[in-house]
Amino acid sequence: MHQFIQNSKSENQIFDVKKIRQDFPILNTKVHGKPLVYLDNAATSQKPKVVIDAIQKYYESQNSNVHRGVHFLSDSATNSYEEARDKIKNFINAKSSKEVIYVRGTTEAINLVAHTFVKPKLNEGDNVIVSLMEHHANIVPWQIVCDEKKAKIKIIPINEFGELKVEEVNNLIDEKTKFISLVHISNSLGTINPIKKVIELAHKNNIPILIDGAQSVCHSKIDVQDLGCDFFVFSGHKICAPTGIGILYGKEKLLEAMPPYQGGGDMILQVTFEKTIYNDLPYKFEAGTPNIAGAIGLGVAVEYLQNLGYENINTQESKLLNYATEKFSKLENVRIIGTSKNKASIVSFVMADIHAHDVGTILDQEGVAVRAGHHCTQPVMDYFKIAGTARASFSFYNTLEEVDILEDAVKKGIKIFLG
Ligand code: PMP
Repeated sequence: MHQFIQNSKSENQIFDVKKIRQDFPILNTKVHGKPLVYLDNAATSQKPKVVIDAIQKYYESQNSNVHRGVHFLSDSATNSYEEARDKIKNFINAKSSKEVIYVRGTTEAINLVAHTFVKPKLNEGDNVIVSLMEHHANIVPWQIVCDEKKAKIKIIPINEFGELKVEEVNNLIDEKTKFISLVHISNSLGTINPIKKVIELAHKNNIPILIDGAQSVCHSKIDVQDLGCDFFVFSGHKICAPTGIGILYGKEKLLEAMPPYQGGGDMILQVTFEKTIYNDLPYKFEAGTPNIAGAIGLGVAVEYLQNLGYENINTQESKLLNYATEKFSKLENVRIIGTSKNKASIVSFVMADIHAHDVGTILDQEGVAVRAGHHCTQPVMDYFKIAGTARASFSFYNTLEEVDILEDAVKKGIKIFLG
């Protein structure tokens, strides 16, 4: 009934959700005898067949180690691995492939920057600014380096809608501020932060800034040159690629000046016991055998998203967000947490006093997969004085019918628990 067909003029292609769903084999799964309704996309996205095929092809016909071999297979694997890097460079509009570092994911990228870029600059009494809505991956690494250097963390507050109090950033910045690390889109609230504004503020004060793009790359076209941020980090698994692969983008000048994070094979040019000469970018930060199949899969995933077109993705996801928000706003005993004006397709909610895990379990019985808990953002939960939320996060392959099923499942839960 709600089948959505969008004809985007600028991208000149038909966006047919039913057809797009056929690209994702897992979406045919039955859960407890019911069709799977996968609404846990903020935790990880599903993978299209082209990505699964690329991984299979690598293991069936290319499997070999990269960079070191002189034989046919190693050449083939190296070419695909480096071609993927070029695709990702174009995807985020980095100036050079040297600025695109393969890492395990967002978490590793933030730790790398915290330890190799920020820690050496920190002195006692200095500070690093993050926001209250950060994922733990953008809190704990800063606590580790700040504790070690007797530095402090300053926190940009949020308001009751879950919006960043951006006007506070200027007040927090002082001469001891050495770094700002800010999430682009909150995974537990869906808030889209005005990152360009904060990047400008940071640079006006000569402070380098990292943007955690774990939740934004799936929803919006990222242009790191236009943003002007010093570092931008994301995980492949949230954008249709496999787990265990992600990207650290950094400005070449900064990456050049940073020491390696890990030592080992591939990150060196020459090793003697007296002295080791490190490899050039990006290899200086890629010690050891990398996730070759993952990188190739990520290259295919970004092409897949580009072919779909972000305009189409946004239109479909906005439609889902508006539809779900309208429905949930009318439900008694349900409260949406995170009502920012500028929001991605994430609906976090609490149901009366029912524990989020119980909500998740009830929904699972109806085939609906949502995340329940604190979503690795405990300070956000503390701010709203709740233990956790149930979170439905929509992707371009979700349908309005699935929102209907979610709503029915929530109503069923209300009936079971509240009578
Ligand atoms: N930041 C945000 C905003 C996230 O949503 C996540 C994943 N939920 C992370 C960081 C950490 O990503 P990963 O576990 O893939 O390293």
